[in-house]
Amino acid sequence: MIELKGIKKRWVINYSLVVVIVMVFVEGIFLFLITNYYYNNIEQNLLNEATVITGFFNKYLTSDILGYENNAKEIIEGYSFDEYLEVQALDLEGNIIFNSSGFKRKELVTSQDFVKALTGDIGSWMGEDLNTGEAIMAVSSPIKDKGEKIVGILRFVTSIEGAKYMIGKWFLFSIIIFFIVIIIISILSTVFTTTIINPIKEITDAAKNITRGKLDVKIKKAYNDEIGYLADTINNMASKLSEVQEMKNDFISSISHELRTPLTTIKGWSETILTGDLTDKEETKTGLKIIIKETERLTNMVEELLDFARLESGRISLFFSKINLKKELDETIYIFEGKAKKKGVEIVYTDYKNNIFIEGDKSRIRQVFINILDNGIKFTESGNKIFISIHEESKKVVVEFKDQGIGISKDEIDNIKEKFYKVNPNKEGSGLGLAISNEIIKLHGGQLDIDSKVGEGTKVKITLLKENN
Ligand code: ADP
Repeated sequence: MIELKGIKKRWVINYSLVVVIVMVFVEGIFLFLITNYYYNNIEQNLLNEATVITGFFNKYLTSDILGYENNAKEIIEGYSFDEYLEVQALDLEGNIIFNSSGFKRKELVTSQDFVKALTGDIGSWMGEDLNTGEAIMAVSSPIKDKGEKIVGILRFVTSIEGAKYMIGKWFLFSIIIFFIVIIIISILSTVFTTTIINPIKEITDAAKNITRGKLDVKIKKAYNDEIGYLADTINNMASKLSEVQEMKNDFISSISHELRTPLTTIKGWSETILTGDLTDKEETKTGLKIIIKETERLTNMVEELLDFARLESGRISLFFSKINLKKELDETIYIFEGKAKKKGVEIVYTDYKNNIFIEGDKSRIRQVFINILDNGIKFTESGNKIFISIHEESKKVVVEFKDQGIGISKDEIDNIKEKFYKVNPNKEGSGLGLAISNEIIKLHGGQLDIDSKVGEGTKVKITLLKENN
């Protein structure tokens, strides 16, 4: 016995069973019609004979019972009947007075056809011959004296064994067809379900491997359909996961590297101070200052990391309020003017006539401005400029930072917003700034776009929704 499970089971129930039910139904109707056809034909023949002979009798018969009994034999013998047909002349009790086959019958006829004929109508009946056990059909027709009083019954009997045999053949034929269809359905079902089940098994195995951390799976795409699409999706997911894995590893090595530099400096200066026996006050002071600065750098980095993790997992809530975006930009620029000047970078700010209000988190927005402007100064050589502007565009606010710095190549630009990504891993910074900024702007329903050309500079464009929009 084939075990039916899962999709196969559902398929058999939903499809094969329906086909089987329909087949049984259609074949049932077919057999019913065939049976009716054969029996109706025979009955019609008997009825025709009965009508003709009874008409003949009713026309020429002498008008009493005696006349019927005498005439019956004569007429039946004189008439040439079909050889399969037996004509019986019955009296009103059901005794067979005469029989065309010459076969002596002693039985008393009581069948339905006879009973019906006694009421004056033609009756028909199917049953068994009492003598031979053969299947027969009989039609009985009343003979009426002057069209009124019933004087006798003429009964026409024929064997229906032939018809039964034919019907049996049709039945067998139907059963054979039925089994052929069942076999075809089974083959088709198996073929069809395997084309579904096998790929699903493969996909399941692949998913299990992914769960176990084996990410180099590649599912063969056998069909270009929903299952093929699923295979593609899983393959895609595996490669994405593997990318994330790689990035995580990269991050760990980059963060370790990032942490090692200040730690080395701290350790170095601590040892210097210790071996110097704290006698050189100036050296001790310088050393301690550097230690404090490096510790701050470490703290900042850790803060940034935590910040990003929280932002990305949505565990941080922004405090929205109505803020003056232009004022935030003004103040950020003011703070950075000193630093830019020191490096020889000029900030060119195109002031906007109006205040522009947005619904946002003040300190987070400020954080974004600081990060972008800081990058701008960091990656722009002395003597070059940074252009900053803010303006309204119908329901939106656009803030642009355009520097004449080193620029970012096309390949890098897509990664720049990813966490921990740095074009030059040896430069300072965690590679988190833009990722955090991008996240913050997204949480504000805005957009952060970066456009850059190596050697020409970088443009960072922030688009936010104005208040009450
Ligand atoms: P970081 O904190 O290291 O600056 P960011 O996410 O802010 O991290 O920036 C990621 C990388 O993108 C930087 O390391 C730098 O290589 C590149 N980058 C960012 N801004 C600029 C810019 N204005 N010009 C050139 N390169 C930039």
